[in-house]
Amino acid sequence: MRRHDVVIVGAGLAGLRAAFEGITAGLDTAVISKVHPLRSHSCAAQGGVNAAINPEDNWEDHAYDTVKGADWVGDEDAIDLMCKEAPQAVLDMDEMGCPFSREDDGSIAQRPFGGASFPRTAFAADRTGHAMLHTLWEQAVKHGTHIYEEYHLLKVCVDEKTKRACGIIAMDIKSGQVEYIAAKAVLIATGGFGRLFASNTNAMINTGDGVALAMKAGAHAADLEFVQFHPTGLKSSGILISEGVRGEGAYLIGKDGKRFMDKYAPNKKELASRDVVSRAEMMEILNGNGEDGAIFLDVRHLGREKILEKLPQIRQLSIDFEGVDPIDAPIPVKPTCHYTMGGIRTNKFGHSKLQGLFAAGEAACVSVHGGNRLGANSLLETIVFGKITGKEMVRFVNEEGSVEPETNTDDMVEVQKIIADLKARPQEGGIRPAVIRKELTEAMNEYCSVFRDEERLKKALKAVEKAKEDYKKVCIDDKSDAFNTELLTTIELGNLISLGEATVKSALARTESRGAHTREEFPTRDDENWMKHTLAIWDKAAETVSLDYEPTRVTGNPRYAPVERKY
Ligand SMILES: Cc1cc2nc3c(=O)[nH]c(=O)nc-3n(C[C@H](O)[C@H](O)[C@H](O)COP(=O)(O)OP(=O)(O)OC[C@H]3O[C@@H](n4cnc5c(N)ncnc54)[C@H](O)[C@@H]3O)c2cc1C
Repeated sequence: MRRHDVVIVGAGLAGLRAAFEGITAGLDTAVISKVHPLRSHSCAAQGGVNAAINPEDNWEDHAYDTVKGADWVGDEDAIDLMCKEAPQAVLDMDEMGCPFSREDDGSIAQRPFGGASFPRTAFAADRTGHAMLHTLWEQAVKHGTHIYEEYHLLKVCVDEKTKRACGIIAMDIKSGQVEYIAAKAVLIATGGFGRLFASNTNAMINTGDGVALAMKAGAHAADLEFVQFHPTGLKSSGILISEGVRGEGAYLIGKDGKRFMDKYAPNKKELASRDVVSRAEMMEILNGNGEDGAIFLDVRHLGREKILEKLPQIRQLSIDFEGVDPIDAPIPVKPTCHYTMGGIRTNKFGHSKLQGLFAAGEAACVSVHGGNRLGANSLLETIVFGKITGKEMVRFVNEEGSVEPETNTDDMVEVQKIIADLKARPQEGGIRPAVIRKELTEAMNEYCSVFRDEERLKKALKAVEKAKEDYKKVCIDDKSDAFNTELLTTIELGNLISLGEATVKSALARTESRGAHTREEFPTRDDENWMKHTLAIWDKAAETVSLDYEPTRVTGNPRYAPVERKY
């Protein structure tokens, strides 16, 4: 058995930022990642990271924009903390060497972003996540962080006597060997689960393994019904065209060639929050102003020079994946699953319900995004709460968590049995994982997306239940040990099915429209009954998800009193 003080699952921005705190505080800190750290989805982030670093801006306005963007179901204490800490978190990255784009006077450049009252999005061209992740990776290497590269999390282990997380079980993908890694504290930083939807902007690895496994270990998941659909995924592939493009001045147009956002958000237009823009696009498409299920993003008026300087990656993606050069023609785009606001429920220091189990980044629900995340607040969340949670884990390990929790060897036996069973399944009467996955993700896309109602959500639930049944018969060809990706994608599918169940049940229960969750038969926000978080709880015996609720944390700041959300 391997042992460390702290085990961090996930080598994206949240995981590596937390690891920096662990390792520089002198703890034996390990990070595991199912891909090389630089392949984490953080690397794909384009547009930027929010922080009130301009002297004319202030964190209070950032916090208000975030409370409003979240449609009043974000936790106000956590939002205040994030926005207050944002400037320092960005400056930390700058000091570590992150190559942010600059103004002529040398200050960090900032661009406008959706739902923001000030241009407060710092960026590194349109490759911000890439620049930030490389910076933190360099720090991890420099400080000697123990990295388990290409290790796949299979179980979060709990000392049943003390109900404390005591480590994890993971597979070394190269050898297929299953290993127990014991720790005094475990951090889940495994990112989101956008892959639950057929059309999405996410990396193949974003299957929410950590959220599903933490829920199964006894932590609560929260607000899974709030799924963000980004207004500008490429029509054919779902690949993201950053909001930064609209920040630089791009328009949305219909097939009639005219802008339409002034009908839906007369002030902010294309830069209203994402839920508002995605709904507007769907309305245009449903009313016949789309083409082939898409509308268009027009950047031609920005001119060749600006496009080449500020949006080089976007141009290349449009050419490579849609066959359109945005210098000459509008880009066909549509709302596409992008981000999961929900995740493992934590307090603002990253503690989950289970002692010793922490979560940060997209895998967590702190909740700073509430019903709808503002663009560029997610990279921010990873570096602010990666840092705060990392520090809190150091404190925990040095104080109340200093004694090693007990591990249970039965856990290894259980995991090995699951793998052996999957490999032993007969082909005859079996169902291929790809078939189950396709049916599930297409049903989620069709019945649980931008517009929802009871009838559609019940169809989604039926599809989830079918996937659950089919999964009992899932069979694979590859019985080998080394790099058995068929086995691992099948295990990921199991996690997606559990998250699908939690997402649909949460969405069915929330009988109001708030943030990204639009119920057509309940078109208004219901603050009296629904200013609360949905908790998804795993019932081990019944192997199902049940729901509970927890009130939204409010600070009493009179500025945050709920009002109708308009842009
Ligand atoms: C295309 C795109 C563009 C975006 N642009 C922006 C932007 O401009 N601004 C912004 O604020 N946000 C943006 N976002 C959102 C933001 O990038 C993410 O929410 C954020 O980077 C998530 O970081 P993370 O550290 O939580 O997780 P990730 O970066 O997703 O990392 C997850 C880590 O967990 C590991 N992992 C997962 N499962 C397992 C397992 N079973 N075993 C072992 N390891 C595992 C992975 O290997 C990976 O290292 C964008 C998202 C996308 C998809």
